[in-house]
Amino acid sequence: MPKLAEPAETHDPLSIFSERESQVRSYCRSWPVAFDTAVGSRMTDIDGKSYLDFFAGAGALNYGHNNPALKAPLLDYLARDGVVHGLDMHTAAKAEFLRTFTDVVLAPRGLDYKVQFPGPTGTNAVESALKLARKVTGKEAMINFTNAFHGMTLGSLSVTGNSMKRGGAGIPLVHATPMPYDNYFDGTVPDFLWFERVLEDAGSSLNEPAAVIVETVQGEGGINPARAEWLRGLADLCNRHKILLIVDDVQMGCGRTGPFFSFEIAGIQPDIVCISKSISGYGLPMALTLIKPELDVWGPGEHNGTFRGNNPAFVTATAALREYWSDDRLERSTLAKGETVDATLRGLVETLPALELAAKGRGLARGLSFGDHTLADKTAAAAFERGLLLETAGPESEVAKIMPALTITDGELDEGLEIFADAVRSVAR
Ligand SMILES: *Cc1c(COP(=O)(O)O)cnc(C)c1O
Repeated sequence: MPKLAEPAETHDPLSIFSERESQVRSYCRSWPVAFDTAVGSRMTDIDGKSYLDFFAGAGALNYGHNNPALKAPLLDYLARDGVVHGLDMHTAAKAEFLRTFTDVVLAPRGLDYKVQFPGPTGTNAVESALKLARKVTGKEAMINFTNAFHGMTLGSLSVTGNSMKRGGAGIPLVHATPMPYDNYFDGTVPDFLWFERVLEDAGSSLNEPAAVIVETVQGEGGINPARAEWLRGLADLCNRHKILLIVDDVQMGCGRTGPFFSFEIAGIQPDIVCISKSISGYGLPMALTLIKPELDVWGPGEHNGTFRGNNPAFVTATAALREYWSDDRLERSTLAKGETVDATLRGLVETLPALELAAKGRGLARGLSFGDHTLADKTAAAAFERGLLLETAGPESEVAKIMPALTITDGELDEGLEIFADAVRSVAR
């Protein structure tokens, strides 16, 4: 075999991205390397440099990269020519997922939901929830919350807070009225004062809402946790005013805050629940819209999508539920690791008063906000230089977001927190 000629000049392996990929690319601008392999909580770039991952696919990799307990059944399934694409046909893989989801997740929690497979992304679960709430109630108005994030398609954007993201729509985003999220007024205003008032006042001009959509902890909005009593108050308000309650658990579900569903701490049962990101467990696209049975008034095909039947995702989702949710070990370890992160963040708040830091979060969804809003991005950049991946959140990217895989080892967590603390101290200078 003739040897291939060596290229005359070595090309920058990253130049293809700036030449060919749209300006819309974003995460890669913060991390200007090309990643090649990833295992657990580590990613390796094409030059062999290893990074610790406190990003976890924005919450899509709660069980880490290429988790062996999920990879083995996936490889077996592909090797035996299991159905890959199935629209909404019955398949063995989907039947197993639905049975396992019922036995491992729904039944032990006393929850009875019908499962809709919308398109395979979070925003699809949200769109279908909004459509269904409108169909059930015959009303078009929605209530959303300040700093909410629900996805980038038009319906989801209409209930999303961020003005830059909303602006991308290019058309008016209508039929949603924002209400203050928990702690919007720094705890000085009684919960739901304005919401109750405009609902009851015939002169308020509020359109009668079909549903309220809420995150229990706002992820993109800046790691803002709502208190359990606030969530109970919201569920009670919805119940009294006959408004449907939609919980968007796309990012905080699948154990991110500890329990499988993030709303479990409040003891509430939302009418509709949106799940996506980590439900496949492997980073494969998959989403669920969970619907109280009496609300399941869809006509066949009234909401559909070509990739609803991503069967390899059903295989890894089933494996993840069996591996991690048959007992409470993962939940307990997530809460313990969350306390470890919180202790580090509180230590920084105390030792660096000049930065006006605040520690935020629940479970393993954690954040550190900076008085000077530019410092969170600088901290993320300093962390990257030190081999740690993390993103920022909040309306002005003022929060450094700490979201490791739930399966991160204690050693890796400590190592990452040390790098993080060092990065914060470096921007303080
Ligand atoms: C990520 C996210 C979405 C959108 O999910 P996509 O898969 O990006 O469409 C919706 N809601 C919340 C709370 C999210 O974090």
